[in-house]
This record gives sequence, C-alpha cells and structure tokens, in this order.
Amino acid sequence: MSPTGLTHKVFINKSPQQDSGDLPNGERRLFPPLASTLIYGAEEAVLVDPGLTTDQAHALGDWVAGMNRRLTDIFITHGHGDHWFNTDLLAQRFGARVVAGEGTIGQMHANVAARPFVWDKVYPGIPESPVTAVTVPGNRFTLEGNELVIVEAGYTDTDASTVLHVPDLGLVVAGDVIYNGAHLYLSETSLAGLDAWRQAIDRVESLGARHIVAGHQNADRDDDAARTIAETREYLDVAEELFRTQKTAVDYFNEMVDRYPDRLGRTVLWATAQAVYGIRDNPGQDPVQYIAGGWL
Ligand SMILES: [Zn+2]
Repeated sequence: MSPTGLTHKVFINKSPQQDSGDLPNGERRLFPPLASTLIYGAEEAVLVDPGLTTDQAHALGDWVAGMNRRLTDIFITHGHGDHWFNTDLLAQRFGARVVAGEGTIGQMHANVAARPFVWDKVYPGIPESPVTAVTVPGNRFTLEGNELVIVEAGYTDTDASTVLHVPDLGLVVAGDVIYNGAHLYLSETSLAGLDAWRQAIDRVESLGARHIVAGHQNADRDDDAARTIAETREYLDVAEELFRTQKTAVDYFNEMVDRYPDRLGRTVLWATAQAVYGIRDNPGQDPVQYIAGGWL
C-alpha cells in the first residue's frame, strides 16, 4: 500500500478458447493469458484492460466484486480486441465509466470493424462490443484524489497505444508496450518499423516506475520494470535480426521457439511470422490480408 492509500492487484485470465488450425510444430494454438489490473483505495477502484470473452468478463467480474470497492472507471490501453471487447459487460455490471486516449478510441472502432474478418472467426464467445469509451481532460483522471495519467506511447504492437502511469504506486500498467514472458505481436509493427516501439519503451522507462504490469505475461514472473523493459528491447533486436537471416515464416517461427522456449503465446509468434513474411513475399498486395490471415 502506498502512503496515499492506493494499491494494485493483477488478475490473469485464462486464455480464450480458439477455433483455428495447429502451429507449424503441431501444437494447438493458444493465446497468451491476459492480465487485468485493479488499482484501488479504501472505497473505490479502477480496472484496466478487462479482456475479450464473456467467460473472461464473468471470471474477472466476480474477482472485482470480491474486492468490495466501487468500480468508478475501466481504462483501455489500446485498441486490440483481446484487451477490451468484453468491457461493456463489466461497465454495465458495475456502473463504471470507460476511459481511453483519443487515438485508442479510433483504434477500438477499427477493431470492431475487423471483428467479422478476424476476431469472430477465431474466438467464439465474444460479447457485443460497443465503443463507449470517453477521453478525459489532459489525459488525467483521479482515484480517491490520486492522479492516474494516460501516457501516449504511439505505435507499439498497434497504433495509438497508451500506458497508465500511477505515480503514487511507482506503477505503469503497460498494456502491450511491455511484454513479460510472452511473444511480442509484430504483425502491424512491421509496417511502422520497430524503432517506433523502441521509442515508446524509452518513454515508459522515463516515467521511472518500479513495477510494470504487462498485458501479456507469464504469471510466474515478477513485475520488475528494469527487467521487463530490457527483455522487451532485446526481443525486438532479436526479431529484427531473424527477419534478416531467416528465409521463411516457418524458419523464423522455429528459430524463435529455440531462442525463447519459455515464452508463452506461440499463436502470436506464428501470426507475426505469417504476416511479416507474407507482406515481404507479396509486394504490392494489401498487407492487411496477411496480418489478418496470420490468425486464421
Ligand atoms: Zn495489442
């Protein structure tokens, strides 16, 4: 507990059920677990990134209810549906406002538009996902008088990503700007270049937090900011090197599995490989078909 009375807890939800083919090594596809964060004081609470499916909303909602705080706000870090498509169920259950950065709200609409082509083909059990998020003045809101700051991170695993900085806790809730023991999703990033993501990591580092909650993480790992930042940087460097040296998507996939045998989320690794090599091998084609196709 901080001197001002805030604390935080993380709920790691089960991977969503998935209806798509196997990975190149014959494993079943499995999405990495999603971390939702509850920041709370004596009476009120703010929830970050509730998740994708109705089942996840029920499990998370029961956990939140058990914390016996009034949920005032639900914050969404970025537009990817796995972080927020089930938000409306929780907003209604608890009577909470939904908050996001302006750019993120635009990306939320884009992800809703992509649902029939990607999300609903792969994941059964996604509820209605109206975009009800609002911006807040100066990208700041409060929890029992403590400031919560939305920090624009730019292009990371998607465009218009943000993190939530809680200065009183020395905490950054990082969404997908920082990963922790899970494969990074690089399909969209390959269009913008990896340097944009590196700059976003620099921005997070400059906040000086001790704890980072990564949206995708291995529950066995700690939340040390220096380690998770260093490992996310290293992963980008290794990916960039292997994009140069590996000839095919399967070669890249296999080499990454060798280098990072403990990282979760090989479904994300394979989606990345198919997108990056599909775009590279088919110049002049619409890259979106390879980004979407990597999931199917
Ligand atoms: Zn993401």
